[in-house]
Amino acid sequence: MQNPFETQELAAFRRTLQDFVTTEIKPYADDWDEAGEIPWELHQKVGALGVWGFGIEERYGGLGFDDCFMRAAYNEEFAKCGANGIPAAMNGRMISIEPIQRLASQEIKDRILEDIVMGRKGSSLGVTEPGGGSDVANTRTTAQRDGNHFVLNGQKTFITGGMTSDYFVIPARTGRPGLEGLSLFFVEADTLGFSRSALPRKMGWWCSDQATLYLDEVRVPAENMMGEENGGFLAIMENFNLERVALIAGMLGMMKVCYEESLDWARERATFGKPLVKHQVIRHKLVDMSTKIDAAEAYLNTICWLVNNGQMPVDKISKAKVFTSKALEFCASEAMQIFGGAGYLRGNLVERVYSEVKVMSIGGGSEEIMKDLASRQMGF
Ligand SMILES: Cc1cc2nc3c(=O)[nH]c(=O)nc-3n(C[C@H](O)[C@H](O)[C@H](O)COP(=O)(O)OP(=O)(O)OC[C@H]3O[C@@H](n4cnc5c(N)ncnc54)[C@H](O)[C@@H]3O)c2cc1C
Repeated sequence: MQNPFETQELAAFRRTLQDFVTTEIKPYADDWDEAGEIPWELHQKVGALGVWGFGIEERYGGLGFDDCFMRAAYNEEFAKCGANGIPAAMNGRMISIEPIQRLASQEIKDRILEDIVMGRKGSSLGVTEPGGGSDVANTRTTAQRDGNHFVLNGQKTFITGGMTSDYFVIPARTGRPGLEGLSLFFVEADTLGFSRSALPRKMGWWCSDQATLYLDEVRVPAENMMGEENGGFLAIMENFNLERVALIAGMLGMMKVCYEESLDWARERATFGKPLVKHQVIRHKLVDMSTKIDAAEAYLNTICWLVNNGQMPVDKISKAKVFTSKALEFCASEAMQIFGGAGYLRGNLVERVYSEVKVMSIGGGSEEIMKDLASRQMGF
């Protein structure tokens, strides 16, 4: 669907991303997904595109500006590679860089930020705990002051990039129950008492690593507290909204894969003496998919325009995330149906997208939690 806010710069950026995905990712996507990992040099090649530099100052390797449309273009075009574990394997950065720039000490930023932005090192955000991910207010990991240090104890799980990242942003309890008692900490993977283990095999996203992190008497300097004591977590709420915009854009890319792949197949495959696409029922499926894609794209573009104009439309972002994950579920299912048995085979793009639907409707704020958030924003 045409973007009324399209600029020449955005179109050129999108073309660069498309070329990159076509030459540097698509030919290898199957192998990487089956192998369960991507080569580390890909992080650096992607870093050179500047996609982790939005909103990051140039002295840290960033672009020195932000643009929600460009963020969305990155997430959409990379999702079109057909194996979302690939961007996921690199995007722990996306949700941890901004808090590091805004809230970490000058010494930490000078030492590590450029390495993260350029893809030389990885960083992750560790919020979810074994006891639950939706109820963040109930975080059990603690950080106790001890002289010039804090001592962290607890566990985080499902942390994307958890096995490969060097740096972690971790909320821990320093005060009273609830979100108001949480502070953020910068934790380095080589700190004594920090350990990690990979999650068992997953339904999808095979080539991205998720880990459980163990914090056992992890001592960090007091300067590693990011932002205000007991105010750190609240200070990164905006970050979650940008993560959700990225997920919406990624889902849009996945839906387009479903539509384009199944349309090609419907033109090629013949049953009862004519191509599938000549059967009305199949045409209707494709039109229904296309309609949902148009709606999601229009929703996303409006959100990007609002963000670029200084607003953070939390209710719309929350609703759009639910709308898009439901639309993706529909498109993935209908695409599989159009493919018939061929869609059930490993290596088929549609099969992989189908296996990646649920992580999009659960991760980054589940559908149920998004609806709760939207209703609070709308005053009921
Ligand atoms: C592949 C993958 C990667 C991830 N990466 C990260 C990461 O990098 N960092 C990170 O911190 N986390 C990450 N997560 C965790 C993710 O954010 C959580 O899975 C998500 O927030 C849900 O938490 P939970 O799984 O503990 O489910 P729970 O909180 O236990 O909820 C279970 C179900 O109950 C529903 N539910 C919960 N409370 C309510 C309620 N009040 N009303 C109605 N329904 C409710 C939920 O919507 C969900 O459907 C990742 C998850 C996956 C699967």
